[in-house]
Amino acid sequence: MVNARLRSETGVATPTRRERPLERDIRYFGDPVLRTPAEPVTDFDLELRKLVDDLNETMLAAHGVGLAAPQIGVSLRVFVYHVDEDEFGHLVNPMLKLEGEPEEDDEGCLSLPGLQFPTRRAPRAIATGFDMHGEPVTIEGTELLARCVQHETDHLDGILFIDRLDKKQRKLAMQAIREAEWFGLPKPEIKLSPHQTARIS
Ligand SMILES: [Zn+2]
Repeated sequence: MVNARLRSETGVATPTRRERPLERDIRYFGDPVLRTPAEPVTDFDLELRKLVDDLNETMLAAHGVGLAAPQIGVSLRVFVYHVDEDEFGHLVNPMLKLEGEPEEDDEGCLSLPGLQFPTRRAPRAIATGFDMHGEPVTIEGTELLARCVQHETDHLDGILFIDRLDKKQRKLAMQAIREAEWFGLPKPEIKLSPHQTARIS
C-alpha cells in the first residue's frame, strides 16, 4: 500500500513538469519577419513562458548577449538578454527612455552573423515593461546593457543595427552581407567547399 501511495505521489509531479526549452533556428537578414513590427503580448500564459525559455536556450547556445522573438520567427514584443552573470533576464512589451549623448561602439547581431560595425547608441537606457507573469519590470542599463536593450527593442520594431550606421559604414555592411555565406539561404546543397566553416556569432 505504501508503494502504491508513493507511486501516486510521484505521478502527481509529472503533469507540472516543464517541457525542456528548444533551441530554435535563428532567422537571418533577408527574412521578412525581421522587418515586421512585432505585436504586443496580451496573454501572459504558458506559451509565453515557453517562448522565453526557448529564446534563452537559443541565445545561450549561440553565445549572444541578447535575442528578440522575431529572430526565432515569433512576431511578439519579447526579448531576452544575458550581458553577464549579474545582468540577465527578459522583457515583455518594452518601452524605452534614453539618456545621454549617443556613443559609438562596435555592435553585431545574431541575425547578421560575423558582421560588426560601429553603431551609435545612447549610453543609458531605462526599459520598462513586464515579466512573463505580467508583473511590471524596470531595467536600468549603462554601457553594454544599455546598448543591448536598444538593439533588442529595435528588433521588435523591425529595425536592424545596420539601419543606424552612417552612410559609409552602411555601404560596407551591405557589401559584407552580399558576400556572407548565410545570405540568401536556404540553399545549403550548393557548397563551394566540402569543409565545415566555423560560424561566428
Ligand atoms: Zn540583433
